[in-house]
Amino acid sequence: MKLPFHHRTTCCLCGSEYLEDVCEITKLPFKSPNVGRDSSKVESQQNADLLVPLNLHMCSACYHLQLADIVDPEIQYTNYNYRTSISVGLAKHFGSSFDQVASFVGRELTGLNVLEVGSNDGTYLKYFLDAGCNVLGVEPAQNISSRARDAGIPTLTDFFNSTTASDLLSSHGAFDVILANYVLANIEDVSDVVEGIRHVLAKEGVFVFETQYGVDVLENFLVDTIYHEHISYFNVLPLKSFFENRDLKIVDVQKIPTKGGSIRVYVQHSNAKTNSSPAVEDLVRREERAGFGSGSSLRSFSRQIRSNKDDISRVLSGQNLIAGFGASVGTMTLLHLYELTDRVIYICDDKPMQDSLHGPYYEIPIVSGHHLEQEPVDAVFLFAWRYSKNIIPKHHTYLANGGQFIVPLPKVQVFRDVELTHTDHAPDAKRE
Ligand SMILES: [Zn+2]
Repeated sequence: MKLPFHHRTTCCLCGSEYLEDVCEITKLPFKSPNVGRDSSKVESQQNADLLVPLNLHMCSACYHLQLADIVDPEIQYTNYNYRTSISVGLAKHFGSSFDQVASFVGRELTGLNVLEVGSNDGTYLKYFLDAGCNVLGVEPAQNISSRARDAGIPTLTDFFNSTTASDLLSSHGAFDVILANYVLANIEDVSDVVEGIRHVLAKEGVFVFETQYGVDVLENFLVDTIYHEHISYFNVLPLKSFFENRDLKIVDVQKIPTKGGSIRVYVQHSNAKTNSSPAVEDLVRREERAGFGSGSSLRSFSRQIRSNKDDISRVLSGQNLIAGFGASVGTMTLLHLYELTDRVIYICDDKPMQDSLHGPYYEIPIVSGHHLEQEPVDAVFLFAWRYSKNIIPKHHTYLANGGQFIVPLPKVQVFRDVELTHTDHAPDAKRE
């Protein structure tokens, strides 16, 4: 029987065999909620009970943070549910990314060749199309890439790699701007993809990618951004030598607040005219100071996870009926980390991507937020903890009737009462 995942013994960035620093987080079902249920010819009933280890490793040769248990990308992406244009705030974010990229390019965009790797439904490329660029998206999910084409964004349904890149160079010529937002981290063979990018990047062209920042994942304790789709947690230190070894250079890095903490990285050929911004070395030094040039940062993250887990089980002891709030792919990490799969009776989400979260021996229905009034519970576990300021004040009736919200991260907080407010400001709540 073919397993739907494999275990790597080498670093996915530098290829070394030094992946010995490990932080064990939990185990997850191999199919994330982002995978459509009706999808897969590759799905095997025999694997339905399988849980795949979710452990964070740090390479002690290049200090790259990564997962070593990799779920088959065909399972993850062939019938992908995640659409950019429906994700909270992301479409607006791409507008500001476009402005930044345009300002880096520093000249008229009309006529430039722009390629996006993992272009999803074309939301980001639309900005470049509207600015007069010749755009092309490459997107492996069939359902989503056809939606992009319907919206007028030229899109190739394929995985991007060095082979696809050679074909693209013959058919389209070199690209002045290559984009890859929140996709590089999801690709196991980063070297091959970057080789493809180098191959199709024009002489003075720029490759700009956005990705979750590994430092922020650990320091801001963003445990729910760790799941199997997300293989790499990039820092500038390992990326710098990775690109240098491929005749490329990082010319600028910007810290951005997306997804709790991300970076936007600008890469060019090593002989391009642009000098590197001091921001690159500044971040490298910051990472070294914070222990990202050794395994110490990962070890303290492990300790933090253990103590957070203890706090959660203390807060939940004695609570009989527990609901959840927020059903995203990261919810699965928290459900399994805190061992809540058989305790949460339903999960509220006003924009659900499907009707339940499920894994071996459990199926948790996803319902609207109003359900809290219809089927009261002792406590609501706020999986969508980053949106607590927006969510909690909306449920004053539930709180007024004795309910409570448990916010698990970055540290455990319990909200029992909220003074009514119609603004987006922080809830004025009694907490413990
Ligand atoms: Zn490495």
